[in-house]
Amino acid sequence: MPLSQVQGQERAVATLLRALAGQRLHHAYLFAGPDGVGKTLAARGLAEALLCHSPAPDRDACGRCNACLRSRELAHPDLHVLRRKEKDGGDGALEQQIKIEQVRELQQTLSYKGFEGSRRVVLILEAERMNPATSNALLKTLEEPGPDTHFVLVSAVPHLLLPTILSRCQRVRFAPLDRGLVAEFIAREAEVDRTHADLLAGLAEGSIGKGLALADSALLTEREALIGRADDPDAKRHIPQVLELAEELAGKKAELPLFFQILRTWYRDLLLVHAGVITDKLVHRDLAERLRARAAALSQTEVLARLERINETERGIEGAANARLSLETLLLRLAEG
Ligand SMILES: [Zn+2]
Repeated sequence: MPLSQVQGQERAVATLLRALAGQRLHHAYLFAGPDGVGKTLAARGLAEALLCHSPAPDRDACGRCNACLRSRELAHPDLHVLRRKEKDGGDGALEQQIKIEQVRELQQTLSYKGFEGSRRVVLILEAERMNPATSNALLKTLEEPGPDTHFVLVSAVPHLLLPTILSRCQRVRFAPLDRGLVAEFIAREAEVDRTHADLLAGLAEGSIGKGLALADSALLTEREALIGRADDPDAKRHIPQVLELAEELAGKKAELPLFFQILRTWYRDLLLVHAGVITDKLVHRDLAERLRARAAALSQTEVLARLERINETERGIEGAANARLSLETLLLRLAEG
């Protein structure tokens, strides 16, 4: 897809098109921003523009020539994509890391001439998945990439990249997408009604990818009840129920990210209510009355402490802490106020 068709990232796209048109393209870019906002799409768009046989007057890809079509299929011989490979065993699970052998293979390929022209493009997706040894192996190629070789590193967590890699890349920031745009896209793609799409977009915090992933979640239908149970003003008298909820959630591990997301956005909404932000901006705006009642009972400091605990618990579980115990601890602490 040509760069100009990437939606909702006007600034990033304009920066890239300006560089293309002025032939001032940096040889290595880092596309940084949340997941699911169009970074990879734009990286592929840039590759398409660089490899296109008959670019538009603004140097964007034509989107129709043979080179464009093959770039789009990731089948162009001068387009190289480095990303985590699938593990042996075929269940689709991915390796934890981009392997050093993949970097070596790439370097081998880049040591030959390009197949079709002089230009080569390398995309490195989830670039933070390179460990220090792999990053260091790549560094030499980033320093002396050879003429007309362009790198685009893509990452949602750029602070995890080695400083030496960061310093060699020109950073292009991708912002969270506008909620209305995400909702529109989700309504169309997931075929859900606009109100539901709007809630998904709010929960997804500007990420189309996240929003679509949430669309099928069973947990979402219990959102209101779930908030009531996890943020129960009377929780001190309901300890057995609190423990029951922890057990229930621990049994649905795949749904845990959504649980945390619901709770996190709930407490963030409470902060917004405290700050007097209009209802329209709230993720849970359909529950505005309840948010206002809760905001009257919880101070900003208490809400912030809760958010901190939620984030800690989520990180702990991602890092292999026992889910049930961690959730029990979290919910009991929320109950204590
Ligand atoms: Zn083309």
